[in-house]
Amino acid sequence: MEFNVDNLVRENIKKMTPYSSARHEFSGTATIFLDANENSFGSPLPENYNRYPDPLQLTLKEKISSIKGVPAQNIFLGNGSDEAIDLLFRIFCEPGKDNVIIFPPTYGMYEVCAEMNAVKVKKVPLTQDFQLNLGAIEEAIDANTKLIFVCSPNNPTGNSINRDDIEVLLNNFDGLVIIDEAYINYAKQKTFIPELTEYANLVILQTLSKAWGLAGLRLGMAFAGEPVINYFNKVKYPYNINTATQQLAIEALGNISSVNNWTKTTVEQKGLLQEELLKLPFTQYVYPSDANFILVKMRAARNIYEYLSGKGIIVRDRSKVILCDDSLRITIGTPEENKQLIEALKSYTA
Ligand SMILES: *Cc1c(COP(=O)(O)O)cnc(C)c1O
Repeated sequence: MEFNVDNLVRENIKKMTPYSSARHEFSGTATIFLDANENSFGSPLPENYNRYPDPLQLTLKEKISSIKGVPAQNIFLGNGSDEAIDLLFRIFCEPGKDNVIIFPPTYGMYEVCAEMNAVKVKKVPLTQDFQLNLGAIEEAIDANTKLIFVCSPNNPTGNSINRDDIEVLLNNFDGLVIIDEAYINYAKQKTFIPELTEYANLVILQTLSKAWGLAGLRLGMAFAGEPVINYFNKVKYPYNINTATQQLAIEALGNISSVNNWTKTTVEQKGLLQEELLKLPFTQYVYPSDANFILVKMRAARNIYEYLSGKGIIVRDRSKVILCDDSLRITIGTPEENKQLIEALKSYTA
């Protein structure tokens, strides 16, 4: 059966009339704008923020398009990837009826957004080596399963999910497969972006929050087929990306070289940190990582977490998370920060 995204969309979303803003309705050239009740004089800032931003962020999308090789009409921009995750639920999942599948341990926002939208979450834990359990996933899928979230590289485990397994999902699942590539810049595994033309049910999430160093700006990207992107645009708030973010993101995307240098240094530092962590007497396992953090299993991890906090070094305690007992998630810092972390750990005594 031919994949048609309309068959997955909630009836109310299909039927609704989207908000039409003043800037939406006019598309020509003009010099006097008296259509949007803005302050025509200016704003009390050096930059003029008195005008509403471009609702579809076309200039920014063209810039992203040239970097990512994805046409602008296949891009949605959100207030962080978290906005895209939330919109997926609102567009596709009927509260109290539909369900989604996630693979714990994984990123927390999928479940938070599901609960917020009263959508059931089916959890199919990763295998011991943090890969997909395809048999169990097949059993979990039912007629009301709309979305499957694959986080690769996965947070908090750090590994990439086997490509062939993801392709099995893309080829066999009638709903949408969302691949969250927040950490793709650090990965040896390649992005699924080239596969967008092949799979109409593929949605890829990326973000400026990690490798791009712009977590404070809040800009997430979703790449998908045009029918999916059109629904995102229908449901999003009209001005979801503010003018300052659009301008600053365009500027930042012109500075790829410093981003590439940081990424390279982070990957090198990760190797050094892995070696040093392995030398510690209380380290039990250092998991391989395709991301900018390491999951490490340590004897009495909670105590080590508290010891480090006492020294002003904050890592993430994941020891209560499924398959992560006694594990800490450590973000790769600057060389100096990593050195201080290792010094602190070396002087730890239980
Ligand atoms: C950090 C992270 C994000 C980023 O979310 P933003 O809202 O874009 O900051 C998305 N997915 C995963 C798995 C993450 O770890």
